[in-house]
Amino acid sequence: MINRRKALKSLATLPFIGSFLGANSLAANPSSAAIVSSVRRDFFKELGLRTFINAAGTYTSMTGSLMPKEVSDAISYGTTEYVNLDELQDKVGERIAELLECEYATVSSGCFGAMSIGMAGILTGMDPKKVKQLPNTEGMRNEVIIQESHTIGYAQALTNVGAKVVKIKTARDLEKAINKNTAMLWFLNANTDQGAIKWEEFIALGKKYNIPTFIDCAADVPPVENLFKFTKMGFDLVAFSGGKGIRGPQSAGLLLGKRKYIEAARMHTPPRGETIGRGMKVNKEEVLGMLAALELYLQKDHKAEWAMWEAQVKLISDSALEIKGVETEVHVPKYANHVPSLRIRWNQNLVKITPNEVRDQLKNGHPSIQTVGDNSSVGITTWMMVPGQERIVAIRISEILSSAT
Ligand SMILES: *Cc1c(COP(=O)(O)O)cnc(C)c1O
Repeated sequence: MINRRKALKSLATLPFIGSFLGANSLAANPSSAAIVSSVRRDFFKELGLRTFINAAGTYTSMTGSLMPKEVSDAISYGTTEYVNLDELQDKVGERIAELLECEYATVSSGCFGAMSIGMAGILTGMDPKKVKQLPNTEGMRNEVIIQESHTIGYAQALTNVGAKVVKIKTARDLEKAINKNTAMLWFLNANTDQGAIKWEEFIALGKKYNIPTFIDCAADVPPVENLFKFTKMGFDLVAFSGGKGIRGPQSAGLLLGKRKYIEAARMHTPPRGETIGRGMKVNKEEVLGMLAALELYLQKDHKAEWAMWEAQVKLISDSALEIKGVETEVHVPKYANHVPSLRIRWNQNLVKITPNEVRDQLKNGHPSIQTVGDNSSVGITTWMMVPGQERIVAIRISEILSSAT
């Protein structure tokens, strides 16, 4: 057997030895290797960053959600071997489609990425010339119809790839707006109640004029049923964020629906290079992380989890209510971020502090706690906390409010 020293010596005759030696000399030092593997580095501390308890919800600015160990294990596993990227996406797409009982699926770079590649695929179909041409849509249908009440900044994902947004209010307006350039109808599930056109009618209009329909469901789990509902209802494409309620990688997402549209969307994704989606890369680690997160989410005891959130919210609410002048309200948004959510208000003549001051004190205290809110209330959800942290939040809020009485 050739020993290590001999192997290194023979490598010395090869041209790129410098880089080999760099890697080997580190590994050859047993004490430094041991240090690297046995001590868990506190990267955020090293970088001078404060971590916090997330009592706010799933926000990109707060880095989304925390991934369960099963998900980070899948990601770590992905780092250890090579695999063909397209073959991986093919297999995982089939597996997700089977799990979610839809025609096909792919893992995207977030819900925003799913919107961009889904839109791009509808603009170009499988035509490689058109794929290369985006965001120039010359020679393609390029209008996407949106209800005015569904207007949201994230529609930029559609215009980024070259589509033009046409806003309408009613079903009649929509029919009038349809013309030879109409490419897609886009629906924002979070704003279902605000729009005149509801799911079924929207889908029916798409079918009547043979125009694909897309629904943005980014923040729409829970309930878990939504992962199945909208493809079954007839939307051609359905998009979810991977790193919100599903707790997968925050930079991953799901595009579900009709195979022909998803295959066209994949024309725009890596490894293909001359495409509008080349920068929206999802590598094996995130693809596996997304799959593992989805499997775990589907197996979860959703009732038990809901009961835990209710109990956590109640604990925080009860502790705030012990202070005279404080009122609380628990509400569950009907669409998007559909979880028990607490609003805390108080009579500022009795508790002499503003909600924004309370939020600042929570954020700047120890540990730091992030909440949402405005001039009239502090808003809290517990679903993004590590269970147990609700006690810390309850104590801190009670301390801050009572010291202002
Ligand atoms: C969060 C969100 C997005 C973007 O999702 P990412 O997964 O962060 O890319 C798009 N639409 C809506 C309605 C959202 O809430």
